[in-house]
Amino acid sequence: MAAPQKVLRKEAILGGTFDPIHNGHLRLALELQHALQLDRMSLMPCHRPVHRDNPGASAQARAEMVRLAIADCPQLELDERELRQDRPSYTFDTLQDIRGEIGPDVSLSWVVGMDAFIHLSSWHRWQELLDLAHLIVIGRPGYRLPEQGAEAEFLQTHRAPLAALDTTPQGAIVLPALSMLDISATAIRQQLAQGLSPRYLLPDNICDYLVDNRLYR
Ligand code: ATP
Repeated sequence: MAAPQKVLRKEAILGGTFDPIHNGHLRLALELQHALQLDRMSLMPCHRPVHRDNPGASAQARAEMVRLAIADCPQLELDERELRQDRPSYTFDTLQDIRGEIGPDVSLSWVVGMDAFIHLSSWHRWQELLDLAHLIVIGRPGYRLPEQGAEAEFLQTHRAPLAALDTTPQGAIVLPALSMLDISATAIRQQLAQGLSPRYLLPDNICDYLVDNRLYR
């Protein structure tokens, strides 16, 4: 008889600027929690993003919006560890920190949208990320899987079925099929700058927060 499959505790983190958080982030985080039966699904705002311009809202406001957005959703958590550091956030360092806390036997995953994954080779110590965690790559309207280059080879070497997350603590790249929402923070900021309402692209309480705090005007 085959040995029973080891089922590990599973945690995943969606890192982002969340400038502002929107329904694309929230829906994917909740669907992932359901689909993968995650024991913990965290949203982690970065302090200063390494690969892009400085955010339009302060770190404190971005964290506050994440807190408000998930206030009624017990399946999702806010992790503020990157905001507590006054330096750029490197995913490798963050994962090393978390791995040190949770120990070697928890299945840990870092979640990235396809728009971020296709630039993975520009990340600090990117090939070593899989020594610390799995990568969950989420489809995003307008972005396709890379077919050539460093990211394509990395994917080909490490791609595994979703079940890998149950049995191994790190090392796989998985691509779950989730609903794709064509929502981006950039488009929301642009709408606000033009005096248009972004309502229905993000939770109502975040919409109110943006108006009350005159963000992205
Ligand atoms: P911006 O438009 O400012 O770049 P964004 O909408 O991409 O922002 P981020 O905070 O940069 O939001 O995204 C955090 C993570 O969530 C990234 O890995 C990104 O790819 C992913 N993501 C954001 N929106 C979506 C979406 N609609 N569908 C799938 N993944 C998404």
